[in-house]
Amino acid sequence: MMNQLEDIASQLLQQQDLVLVGHAIPDGDCIGSMLGLACALRALGKRVEMMLENPVPVIYHYLPSWKDIKAPQKVERGGFAAVWLDCSDQCRVDQVVREALAGAQLVINIDHHPGNSLFGDYNFVDTQAAACAEIIYRLLNIMAVPITADIANCLYAGLIMDTGRFLNSNTTSLTMQIGAELLKSGASVELARNNLFESKPLKEVVLLKYALQHLGLSEDGKVAWMCLSLDEAVQADARDYHPEGIINYTRMISGVEVGLLFREVAPGQVKVGFRSRGRVDVASLAREFGGGGHRLAAGASLKGSLEEAAARILARVKDVC
Ligand code: AMP
Repeated sequence: MMNQLEDIASQLLQQQDLVLVGHAIPDGDCIGSMLGLACALRALGKRVEMMLENPVPVIYHYLPSWKDIKAPQKVERGGFAAVWLDCSDQCRVDQVVREALAGAQLVINIDHHPGNSLFGDYNFVDTQAAACAEIIYRLLNIMAVPITADIANCLYAGLIMDTGRFLNSNTTSLTMQIGAELLKSGASVELARNNLFESKPLKEVVLLKYALQHLGLSEDGKVAWMCLSLDEAVQADARDYHPEGIINYTRMISGVEVGLLFREVAPGQVKVGFRSRGRVDVASLAREFGGGGHRLAAGASLKGSLEEAAARILARVKDVC
């Protein structure tokens, strides 16, 4: 069942012990939303833990309390609430995380992905929100928590990363208004730019070099793709590193409708990223392969080799382009 944001606010205010969790291979929105909400709940005197199955990428290390985000470990005590952020369903996290949270007395689900399975005891899903951070901002206003500079920096990072610096089509006037409010509350444009876009680890540029070496284009020029093998990720010392920007190079090419990145993340396991220029709904394509996401940005995980996964996906994508 879907709830009002006011219901979520009152539940959060009642809970004393909360564990926040986000999806695998966390992005700026997932991390920014988690850290911003954690800062706010801690300011209210609550016990707050944060859990992610993958490490926090170094570009987010300027955000407060990122070191408090821990790898999954079973929460043995009872009586805590699990707050899921930016997850369309519980399969967006590994089994280890689901088991770690099995003792939760309450599950709260806050998200902006279409097709969210409403798996929580309380659910708030707004598919019009450009970022989960946008929802967290509204939530904190309802809870009457003052937005400190720390909270503002976290939520601003979420907004920037999920809107592609306020340029993706999910950007609305409300997104910009919230961005403006966050700046008034002390979010730093300098910090965001320097850390999110101008502090790329060398390994990200090396990964881009490998990815560009495997740039492919369909005969009609409507589908572009890049591949990254596990070997290349190991050579670049970037096995657990998932830059959000590399895939965008595919969609930058004039005439391309759908851009794809095939990334071998473990032997026999391939993560596929989908980006659409506008006409093609890539979320529904990703769902055909067990994934999900948004109309213009989606993803899926496939079993098999890089070549097999690419062949399967490309056949289908070329069909609809
Ligand atoms: P990415 O290509 O990883 O940046 O993902 C783009 C969008 O698709 C994000 O909103 C993700 O939450 C979503 N997404 C990525 N991978 C998956 C997956 N395996 N299942 C469902 N949604 C996904």
